[in-house]
Amino acid sequence: MRQYLDTPLHQGLRKKLVDELRSKGIKDELVLQAILKVPRHLFFDSILDKVAYEDRAFAIGAGQTISQPYTVAFQTQALSVKKNDKILEVGTGSIYQSSILAALGARVFTIERQKLLFDNNKHFCLKHQYPTIKFFYGDGFEGIPAFAPYDKILITAAAPFVPPKLINQLKGGGIMIVPIQNAEDSNQRMTRLTKSITDDTIQEEFLDNFSFVPMLKGTAK
Ligand code: SAH
Repeated sequence: MRQYLDTPLHQGLRKKLVDELRSKGIKDELVLQAILKVPRHLFFDSILDKVAYEDRAFAIGAGQTISQPYTVAFQTQALSVKKNDKILEVGTGSIYQSSILAALGARVFTIERQKLLFDNNKHFCLKHQYPTIKFFYGDGFEGIPAFAPYDKILITAAAPFVPPKLINQLKGGGIMIVPIQNAEDSNQRMTRLTKSITDDTIQEEFLDNFSFVPMLKGTAK
């Protein structure tokens, strides 16, 4: 992870990115403000400064990708993040999505199965800006029961099904956003699950099609 250096050039590129996301249909001003605030280029190698503000996914090592800004904005908007929400994120990856959630005032419990990517948090240059992010190495299918229940759960990899243990770790009235692998094609169906406050039933809504790296079982060294 890089030294903290944010310049007017980077800020200008961020402003352009936010305008682009707005034109693509992102409406939540708080989400757009968070994207304007978090220096996305610091999550990339310095040679990639410009790429960092293009609306596309990019390789981050261990065969994984940092999600496209539009996808991050879409998932965050769908999660209706409130200040102090306790959020479980599956797939820490570059820590960019975690930082967006933290910039919105959430307490983030993020879990990553790739040791190489998990270890990056030790050099995370925005650690002091976002002390509410807590990092865990493990399998997201198991969730993090020690800190459950969560107000919100966000899965940032393509799940083959909704992990039952995560449903158990969601509060009544809580929201889970999960891209679910479609059996018929290579797309994933972004799905919003809302747990009832009264009887644990789940309401399911289809939001749109997306493309993610797969959510895999177990951990990788
Ligand atoms: N939120 C990340 C997106 C990274 S891509 C970002 O902003 O950069 C998805 C990540 O999910 C990858 O890093 C992958 O290793 C991780 N992943 C896949 N299956 C997982 C599982 N079962 N538990 C935890 N992490 C998982």
